[in-house]
Amino acid sequence: MTLPSDLEIAREAAPEPVARIAERIGIGAELVEPYGDGVAKIRLGALDPAGPLGSRPRAKYVVVTAVTPTPLGEGKTTVTVGLGDGLNRIGRSTAVAIRQPSMGPVFGIKGGAAGGGYSQVVPMERLNLHLTGDIHAVGAANNLLAALLDNHLFRGNPLDIDTDTVSLRRALDINDRALRTIDTAVGPASEGEQRRTGFDITAASEVMALLALARSLPDLRERLGRIIVAEDRAGRPVTAEALGAAGAMAAVLREAAKPNLMQTLEHTPALVHTGPFGNIATGNSSVIADLIGLRAAEFLVTEAGFGADMGAERFFNIKCRVSGEAPDAAVVVATVRALKAHSGRYTVTAGRPLPDEMLKENPEDVRVGGANLLKQIENCRLHGVTPVVAVNAFPTDHASEIEAVRDLAAEAGVRSAVCTNVADGGEGARDLAAAVAEAAEEPSHYAPLYPLDASLKEKVETVARAVYGASGVSYSERAERQLRSCERNGLGTLPVCIAKTHLSLSSDPALRGAPTGWTLPVREVRPSAGAGFVYLICGSMQTMPGLGRTPAALGIDLDDQGRITGMY
Ligand code: ADP
Ligand code: MG
Repeated sequence: MTLPSDLEIAREAAPEPVARIAERIGIGAELVEPYGDGVAKIRLGALDPAGPLGSRPRAKYVVVTAVTPTPLGEGKTTVTVGLGDGLNRIGRSTAVAIRQPSMGPVFGIKGGAAGGGYSQVVPMERLNLHLTGDIHAVGAANNLLAALLDNHLFRGNPLDIDTDTVSLRRALDINDRALRTIDTAVGPASEGEQRRTGFDITAASEVMALLALARSLPDLRERLGRIIVAEDRAGRPVTAEALGAAGAMAAVLREAAKPNLMQTLEHTPALVHTGPFGNIATGNSSVIADLIGLRAAEFLVTEAGFGADMGAERFFNIKCRVSGEAPDAAVVVATVRALKAHSGRYTVTAGRPLPDEMLKENPEDVRVGGANLLKQIENCRLHGVTPVVAVNAFPTDHASEIEAVRDLAAEAGVRSAVCTNVADGGEGARDLAAAVAEAAEEPSHYAPLYPLDASLKEKVETVARAVYGASGVSYSERAERQLRSCERNGLGTLPVCIAKTHLSLSSDPALRGAPTGWTLPVREVRPSAGAGFVYLICGSMQTMPGLGRTPAALGIDLDDQGRITGMY
C-alpha cells in the first residue's frame, strides 16, 4: 500500500482551533497570541511560577533520540509525533516539542521536518516555510550585531578590535554556497575597510543556539550580551555587550522568544520553537518550550537531533543542565535500514532511493549493525535514563528483520515496541506509548556525565571515550592555543559541544556500527559564551550548506488558489 503524499495527508486534516488546543493543556486565552489559522504564540507568562501553569504538576519528560542515522533520517520526528498521539490515545495527556525547520533543507534535499504520513504537525506548509518568522528574527538580530561591529570599526574602533580575530559572521536562512566567503565593503572607502568574512545558515548562528537555551527574557538578554565577536589587540574577548548591541538584539527577538503552538493531525498540542544546528550547536528545541510543556500535560515528548551520541548527549549535558529538568525516559528510534547500513555492507546516499540489495531479507545484517543500537542504548544509560527502543517500521522491512531489532533490545534488557504510526497514526504507536509510560514510572537516575569544574580537556575526553567509544583525543596546535585562551577567559567551566559528523559514532563518517580504537581529532576550539558552551570542531563542518543539482525548491509552486504545491 502506498500512502498519499505528506502534503496531501496534511491538506485533508481537520485541525481544531488552536485556542482549544491551548486550553486543553491549561493555557488560557490570556496566554495565547493567535498567528493566523492553526498557529499561536504562547506568552512567556506561561513560565511564571505564580501564573496559571505554575501550580500544575510536572509532566513526565521523555526525550526522543535514535541510532546513528543514515542521511535519510530514521524517523525521530515521526516517532515524537506518533508517540504523542499514542499516549493521548491511551488516555495520557501529552504535548510534543520539536524544532522549527530551517528553510535550507526544505529547499535543499531533506524536505520538510513536520514529520510524515499520518504523524505530522500541521499546517505543514506554515511549519516548513517561515512559520511566525522566528528564524528571520534570529538572522536579523545576528546581522544587527554584525552591522554594529562593522560600524564600530568604521568609526575609529574605540574598543581596539583586532580585525583578524573577528569570529562573528552574517546569517541567512537559505542554502547559499556563494556566500560562504565574502569580502565586505569592496566599494569606495566611504563603505569602510574591506574585510573577509562570510555567511552561516541562521540555524548555525550563536544567536539561534542561545535562544534555544535561554530560560527567560532576562536570561536571553544576558546571553546576548555574552556573545564574543572578536578579540582586542591585547587578546581580550570583545562582547556584544561591549559593542552596545545586546539590548537592541533582545528587542528584535522579543516575539521569537515565545514558543509557537501547533497541533498534530490527531490534535496533540505541538510546541515548535527554535532550530539550532545539530552538529555545532545543541540540535534541540528550546528550553522555554520544554519548561512550558512540562507544566502543560502529563507527558512532554521532546525530540533531540541526530543519534544519541549527538542531540541526546547535548540534551543530557547542556540543555537539562540549563533547564534544571531531569528526563524520565529516552526513546531510541531504530530502523531496519539504518542497522543494515551499520553492517558496513551498503552505502545510503541522501536524495537517492535505497540500493535494491538492501531491500532483501537479511536479519543477519541487522544483527551486525545492531552494535550501533547497543551503544546508543548505553549512551542513554550512561546518563541514568531508562531507554525504550522504538522500531520505526517501513513497508519494505521483513518481519525477521524487525524481530532482530527487538531481540537486540531484549538482549540489552530494555523495553521495545514496533511503531507503524507513519502509516496508521497514533494507533500505530499504542504499544510504544504503553512501554514509555511504564519506563517513565521507574525512578530517574539522571545525572550529567561530567562535572562542570573538570577541565575542558577532561570533559572532551569523557564524552569521546564514554559516549563515542574513542580511545583518546588529539589536538591540533591551534586547538591547544584556543583551549588555553578559553580557560584564561573564564570559559573553562562551560560544558562542551563536540562538533563531529552525525553519520558515525566516530569522527569519520565512513565508519559504521560502533567503531573502537580510533582517536578524536580536535581541529579547532571556539567559545560560544552566549549560548554557554565551548565547541570543538572535529573534522570539517559546513556551516553554510549549498544546494544540490536538483534542489527541492525546483518542484515547489503556488496554485491559483494560493495553495503550495510540490512540497513532497
Ligand atoms: P528524523 O527526525 O529522525 O530526521 P523524520 O521523522 O523527519 O526523521 O523522518 C525522515 C523521513 O523519513 C521523513 O520524510 C519521513 O516522512 C520518512 N519516514 C519516517 N518514518 C517512516 C516510515 N515508518 N515509513 C515511511 N517513511 C517514513
Ligand atoms: Mg527530526
